[in-house]
Amino acid sequence: MEGNANQTRALFGCTQPELTEMMQGFGQKPYRARQVWEALYKQRVASVEDMTTLSQELRERLMTEGWSVGLPEIVQTARSVDGTERYLMRMADGETVETVWMPDGDGGERGDGSEAAEEEATEQVDAEEAVAGGENPKVAGYWDRRGNGRPKSNFGTLAGKGYRRATICISSQVGCAVNCQFCLTAKLGMRRNLTAGEIAGQVAAALNRHAIQIGKDRINLVFMGMGEPFLNYDEFMKSVRLLVDGIGIPESRMTVSTSGILPGIERFVTEDVRPKLALSLNASNDVVREQVMPITRKWKIAELLDACKRIPLRTREWVTFEYVLLGGVNDQPQHAREVLALLAGLRAKVNLIVWNPGPGIAYHQPTPEDVAVFQGMLIEGGIATYIRRPRGRDIYAACGQLKRTVSEEPQFVVLT
Ligand code: SAH
Ligand code: SF4
Repeated sequence: MEGNANQTRALFGCTQPELTEMMQGFGQKPYRARQVWEALYKQRVASVEDMTTLSQELRERLMTEGWSVGLPEIVQTARSVDGTERYLMRMADGETVETVWMPDGDGGERGDGSEAAEEEATEQVDAEEAVAGGENPKVAGYWDRRGNGRPKSNFGTLAGKGYRRATICISSQVGCAVNCQFCLTAKLGMRRNLTAGEIAGQVAAALNRHAIQIGKDRINLVFMGMGEPFLNYDEFMKSVRLLVDGIGIPESRMTVSTSGILPGIERFVTEDVRPKLALSLNASNDVVREQVMPITRKWKIAELLDACKRIPLRTREWVTFEYVLLGGVNDQPQHAREVLALLAGLRAKVNLIVWNPGPGIAYHQPTPEDVAVFQGMLIEGGIATYIRRPRGRDIYAACGQLKRTVSEEPQFVVLT
């Protein structure tokens, strides 16, 4: 790896073998690579100067050769009344994406039958098993072994603010090429893929902003921001490995959402380390889906569901189906019946998302009555069905509301 002082290169995003090779190139002992790794992902330093385990000489060498940590920079923040924060994050080349921070578990939803409460109950069983099985429960997050293996309230910075956990929603691309008709990100068209370092870097930047210590605070990740992760598959999966091995967030706390990129799902089912899967179903048949998600012309619902059936699900794992309710389009009882037929035999849960409006998008929100009937029918049909609480709608941070301002003409995916 040759250096060039005129060019800034990011250390954040490098894997252990890449760092080892770099240190070898510098004539350094292998343990130096480990120190850089720890500084980047465990200490989450903001600059090479802050890598105080390295000699001054090595730090200077790295800097003169053009290396920097290269975390995305938070250039704008908006804070919602519900605690949600939306960040505009700038990458080294000036491109920006949005990342959303959602603190949660302030007591309101626990035991109320919401998805958050459900997941918490599941986590409790998992952690108890981890303790019984002799695993180090600290690895699993906010768990504390002291005091008979019972969950302690958090003692990190989140707990100090009265929260049990936070979920970070990260972007995988600048813009998106999929062109779903109800989504504001689609209006951008596709600008570029993010690198693994830029994807995982959004997490590090958000954690740093809140002084989060992994192991003390419980962090969930959702790859549900701007972009289609499975159209940036390699960098997305590389970021997952950095987040698991480096930052220390277990993959069981991560969920990736795809609009249904069949080759991506097919690769994903073969991964050893992978997040949970969410598929944006959003319609109960191909005709409606094609109207709202033109990508359906390429891959049909039946093919996508077949691929989902091949996922070797772990204990207490489901495939989540997201379903954006669009008033009068896909929210009627006949649609609920079709969804039930589609999901029969799948270990599935459904997240209903009430459509969030955006400028220039001509859909309507469903009525509360239609939402309730839809949910009731799915539950009656035996499918765990939740209504996702909209987060940060007042600051345009809710699902499908992420959009940065660009002037160029958008480009869309070519459908063959
Ligand atoms: N590209 C991926 C992940 C990002 S979108 C995907 O489409 O799955 C995350 C979720 O937000 C998807 O389920 C999508 O259907 C939903 N969504 C998009 N626009 C929305 C809007 N305006 N209101 C509510 N949900 C929306
Ligand atoms: Fe892209 Fe997802 Fe928005 Fe569709 S819903 S345009 S895939 S970000």
